[in-house]
Amino acid sequence: MPRPTVAHIDLEALRHNYRLAQELAGSASAMAVIKADGYGHGIRAVARALADDVRCFAVACLEEALAVRDEGLEQTVVLLQGVHSEQDMVTCACLGFELVVHSDYQLDWVLNSTERVPVWVKVNSGMNRLGYRPSELPVVMGRLAEAGCVPKGFLTHFASADEFDSPATEGQTEAFRGGVAPWPELLLSVGNSAAHFRAGQPLFDWSRPGIMLYGASPMADRNATELGLKPVMTLESELIAVRTLQPGDSVGYGQTWTAERPVRMGIVAIGYGDGYPRHAGTDTPAWTNGNRIRLIGRVSMDMLAVDLTDAPSAQAGDKVELWGCHVPIDEVARHAGTIGYELLTGVTARVPRRYH
Ligand code: PLP
Repeated sequence: MPRPTVAHIDLEALRHNYRLAQELAGSASAMAVIKADGYGHGIRAVARALADDVRCFAVACLEEALAVRDEGLEQTVVLLQGVHSEQDMVTCACLGFELVVHSDYQLDWVLNSTERVPVWVKVNSGMNRLGYRPSELPVVMGRLAEAGCVPKGFLTHFASADEFDSPATEGQTEAFRGGVAPWPELLLSVGNSAAHFRAGQPLFDWSRPGIMLYGASPMADRNATELGLKPVMTLESELIAVRTLQPGDSVGYGQTWTAERPVRMGIVAIGYGDGYPRHAGTDTPAWTNGNRIRLIGRVSMDMLAVDLTDAPSAQAGDKVELWGCHVPIDEVARHAGTIGYELLTGVTARVPRRYH
């Protein structure tokens, strides 16, 4: 019998979320962001599941783009960080990948290359990670023009679109709009998931939703359900032991939680070795037998403890949901002091993904 710990992936929910992104994008097209192994869901299965709806996928690196092509999918694939070596330009040209160019060394590769690879020029509109400042664009565009190279478009990324009341996104949008104005014929791409939910936010030609496709909320103060998103991953395991703790008994490493009354306690076969966050301590919710329960004590590598007071009929062998339909991943993330992105991409390889 395989270990009972599994990540169920609901591909219909994934398609629902993509269609919502496309609807919110309005006249823009939504490029599906499937980097980091499809945010931990399995890049190949995610790409295949979205293939009928999506015209363009965005990935971080060449290996991820190759995985999409390896599935026989012919959609456009944009490499959001471009390539990491000049030789990779040839592969990109042969396989029809599009590159983001964010630095001069990449621009040199594009200009030196005998292959013509479609490029997106990354604009640093305020995130200050990658890209050219708007004031640097005339030089970049001049160099490309001298080499007879017409880029496909410009792209920028928002730093704070998830904060509704932050003026930073409008500032970035205006900096971007102004910087690219001299080249009105080129395509423009902005908009992570959060930007899709900001009233009046222009998404130009191509938006780039990521986390919302997987049903987690891109916003700190709005939950996924109220945004119309459906959870795609349900992380599930099983109770492998049930016992009653007596007052004064503690549980787990460091003995950080001690029973003050008799407590029926369960041990679940999942831990940080599976990507369940170690910092999700006492009171983090889980779900079993139709009831919400809570973690107690520290998470171990292969197991964790739960208080079964609110699930009196639960027994060894019963399923436990760690996040998914009954326990929003964003709630678990808050308890662990992190974000849904990190939890989803952190589910380790030993957890089989089961697609439905
Ligand atoms: N565009 C770029 C350049 C990104 O780096 C990311 C994700 O980090 C996205 C779009 C998608 O963002 P989100 O997952 O918040 O929708």
